[in-house]
Amino acid sequence: MTLRSWLAGADESTFGVHNLPYGVFTTADRPGERRIGVAIGDRVLDAGAAASAVGVPSALLEAPTLGPLMAAGRPTWRSVRHALTSWLTQSGYAKAVAAHLVPRSEVSLHLPFDVADYVDFYASQHHAANLGRLFRPGQEPLTPNWKHLPIGYHGRAGTIVVSGTPIVRPAGQRKPADAARPVFGASQRLDIEAEVGFVVGTPSTPGSPVGLKTFSEHVFGVCLVNDWSARDLQSWEYVPLGPFSGKSFATSVSPWIVPLDALEHARTAPPPRDVEPLPYLDDRGEDAWGLDISLEIRLNGHSVSRPPFAAMYWTAAQQLAHLTVNGAHVRTGDLFASGTVSGPGPDSRGSLIELTWNGQHPVGLPDGSERTFLQDGDEVLVTATAPGACGSRIGFGEVIGRVSPAR
Ligand code: CA
Repeated sequence: MTLRSWLAGADESTFGVHNLPYGVFTTADRPGERRIGVAIGDRVLDAGAAASAVGVPSALLEAPTLGPLMAAGRPTWRSVRHALTSWLTQSGYAKAVAAHLVPRSEVSLHLPFDVADYVDFYASQHHAANLGRLFRPGQEPLTPNWKHLPIGYHGRAGTIVVSGTPIVRPAGQRKPADAARPVFGASQRLDIEAEVGFVVGTPSTPGSPVGLKTFSEHVFGVCLVNDWSARDLQSWEYVPLGPFSGKSFATSVSPWIVPLDALEHARTAPPPRDVEPLPYLDDRGEDAWGLDISLEIRLNGHSVSRPPFAAMYWTAAQQLAHLTVNGAHVRTGDLFASGTVSGPGPDSRGSLIELTWNGQHPVGLPDGSERTFLQDGDEVLVTATAPGACGSRIGFGEVIGRVSPAR
């Protein structure tokens, strides 16, 4: 039986009853009071107030962050989702629950959980090969380890910001190709990376790896990530220890966390791998975690790329397995991002350095201007959808950021 919401317009929305993403919001009349919200149609359900209104008050839903719910584990995630679905579909709940819907246009959305550790991976073969050609011309595009392990680095959790936060142009060292010494100043090659982020709910045990089979016991949900990147700083600093100040100034995330359970119908086979993985990464014959998520990047409102997440070589389950195989544990609030999502075609690349081929082929905008890298005042929006249950589309909302001048 097809589930339908009693809320007008919800079933036609990418925030329908098969999605029910979680966020944290405030309203203008109660600006200091952060509340857990669930997006439904063009509204936000005040989840804690709704729970009380139907007679099942919930400390997890009355918290000011998603942390306690995320830490509660998969059986609780399932029962809370089941309850929310009932409240929003059964007419008997409509009167009590409708009183706790707020128009989405009237809320402020916040970072929905405290980010513990942040890891960024590098899982698109197309992206890695493109960057290899650009950063290491004349050499093999992929490093020798690339198809044996999901490459990643530890990023900076404290500079993860929610969608809408202005991005101050970073300053740092860069070394022009023809210069003997580096110079200091504002980045001249500020770029984006459209990515998908995975949010850890249930912690793992120190010393004990999280195998491929237990991915869904630990991962609470999925969001969108824009990993802002200063290419001029990055290219000078990244050898030998990887990204540092070229990335650490800010990373934007979408405010809605789509539950992993909402993506069951988006699961798809990962692309064929031509190198046999070691057993702890071998998802052949497993229920592999390829996900058919379609991203779109808009620059100043103009669509510039449509990256396909289904093309990613490494899955999030393999990334979590690799992250923990040495015994490192994950904690509630850990965020790991996929790496730039780039597809095979020139119109499906997830960064400007690829879309413009290091500035050689500028992107044209409808106002007649061109971009190689970002200018002050530019606004970048990343959005995405995926197949949902019963023919629905699961929306991820958006992650948006505007560049402000260097200070
Ligand atoms: Ca990245």
